Order: sequence, then structure tokens, then C-alpha cells
Amino acid sequence: MRPPTKEEFDQLREKTLAARESAYCPYSKFRVGACLLTTSGSFITGANVENASYPAGICAERTALVKAITEGHKDFVCIAVATDINPAASPCGICRQTMREFCDVGMPVYMFTPDGKISGRMICQSKQWNRAAWHELERTRLMGEHVGAFA
Ligand SMILES: [Zn+2]
Repeated sequence: MRPPTKEEFDQLREKTLAARESAYCPYSKFRVGACLLTTSGSFITGANVENASYPAGICAERTALVKAITEGHKDFVCIAVATDINPAASPCGICRQTMREFCDVGMPVYMFTPDGKISGRMICQSKQWNRAAWHELERTRLMGEHVGAFA
């Protein structure tokens, strides 16, 4: 695993914010965009796709991960998520569990405000399958403008 370059990070931010435009959210009106950066330098975007039967909807982060996995990507640098609120929302429990399945320990999860500032960062600290691992994640979340997000 490597950190994103400055150029990759700038693209990640742009693509994450733009991904919100693909959201299908007629029920919540809560747009979410996500973007996954692979170690080979590919960007895979996702958006939330809701359903009248609430559990059948899928979050932006999982949309990006499912696209990546089904397209053959296995190694990831980071993932980012953006909403229309500030501070940005953090990934839900099901998305965290999906990231745990496919992402390395230490892989950063960036949360962007609508104007592209980082309002949070989480790091997966454990590959434990159970919920305890995600309590660790929550505590590593950083609020405020983050400096040094990229190498
Ligand atoms: Zn989610």
C-alpha cells in the first residue's frame, strides 16, 4: 500500500465530489459520491442508489467497491466520500464492513466537505471481522482541515 500522490489526491477530490451527481436519491435527497483509487492508478467512482424498499438501496462507497471488485481490481490506495453536508458524513457500518473485506489495514478513508476540504479521515486498524474493529476506526477519525493527507 502507498499513499496517494498530490496529483492523485487532487483527482480523487474532484471525482468524489462529481460522483454525487450520479446519485439516485429521490427518497432521502441525500446525495453521496465516492471514489476509490487503485494501486495501479485507476479511479472508480460510485454514488448512492436508493430503492423504495430502503434496505435494497446501496451506498456510494459500496457501489465503488462492488464496481472495482467485479472489474478485477484488488489493491487499493484509498477511498473518499463526499456528501452535501459539512462536516461530511462518515461511512456506515455496512460500508465499513465491506471495506474491511477488501481493503488493507491502514488504508485511509477521506471525507470531503461540499467545497472539497477534508473534514474527516478514518484508517482501518484491524481486519477483525467483528464490530469491535470498527470502534477503533471511529476513534481514528480526524476532524478539521487535515494537512499531510498525501505524501
Ligand atoms: Zn454505507
